[in-house]
Amino acid sequence: MSSQGKFSVLRSILRTLGLSQEAVDEIVDRIVDFLSADEPSAADKEVYPYALRDDFLSPAELSFYRVLATVVDPEIRICTKVALGDLFYAKIKDSSDWRRYTNKIDRKHVDFLLCDGQTMRPLAGIELDDSSHRREDRQARDHFVNRVFATAALPLIRVPARRGYAPVELRAVLGEWAAEEKAAEPVAESTPARVDAVYDKKPAPSPAPPPTPTPKPATTAPVSPSPQITQPASAAALPGTSLFGPPPVVDPVEPAPPRCPKCGDEMVLRTAKSGANSGGQFWGCTNYPKCRGIVQYQPTAN
Ligand SMILES: [Zn+2]
Repeated sequence: MSSQGKFSVLRSILRTLGLSQEAVDEIVDRIVDFLSADEPSAADKEVYPYALRDDFLSPAELSFYRVLATVVDPEIRICTKVALGDLFYAKIKDSSDWRRYTNKIDRKHVDFLLCDGQTMRPLAGIELDDSSHRREDRQARDHFVNRVFATAALPLIRVPARRGYAPVELRAVLGEWAAEEKAAEPVAESTPARVDAVYDKKPAPSPAPPPTPTPKPATTAPVSPSPQITQPASAAALPGTSLFGPPPVVDPVEPAPPRCPKCGDEMVLRTAKSGANSGGQFWGCTNYPKCRGIVQYQPTAN
């Protein structure tokens, strides 16, 4: 029972004994004073057996970090030891499955994470592979981490651990990654990732892409051309047809919720609170804020 509850029981007992309200208040106040003066609070008794570690970064990690800091674009921020649980989430509704898959990423981290300096949006992970990565258990762990990054479409760069790093070599490794990113950029323009611009309060978000059950990772090689190009001009003119996708299966009153283009999950109608579309409706992912996938809301034509 909470102390609040205990005192209300005490008050009712005292009143049953025939004491006036004033007398009851007086007694309860005295008891409260007495208890708070003598009893050390629970927080005071709590033990904190913690100390600062000297090895936040290993010598190899520190030496790598120093070179990395000279090599990456000044607009990029380097985070060290980022928990996978802070980066990824399990998109599962069943709570026991959710726990199971969350546990799998809970106590793992990635050595370095490169983020956009303005938005801190994760751009790529970097793993420093030392000799322990050749052990069988480590390989299973590495394979798992590789798959997690790949599924979530976040590049993971593996760099063999060395005693020292030449900036030239590191620049070459990162250059390869940056080149791949650039090659993938035209696709990124038409992928759901761009729709995030709404959340960034940029003036004109790109049109929403068609809802697809399996999201295409933003960083993969071009798979399909921009939806605006593939859309036949005649289809766009049909009544009740979405400009940017096939006509949704419509309920006479409410259009059927699309699937999230980013994670494939369910979507719900939301009202924009800020930005250019403020007050307007849009389809938001039910995994928000973990997934910020959105789809333009097209009210039925008639
Ligand atoms: Zn989503």
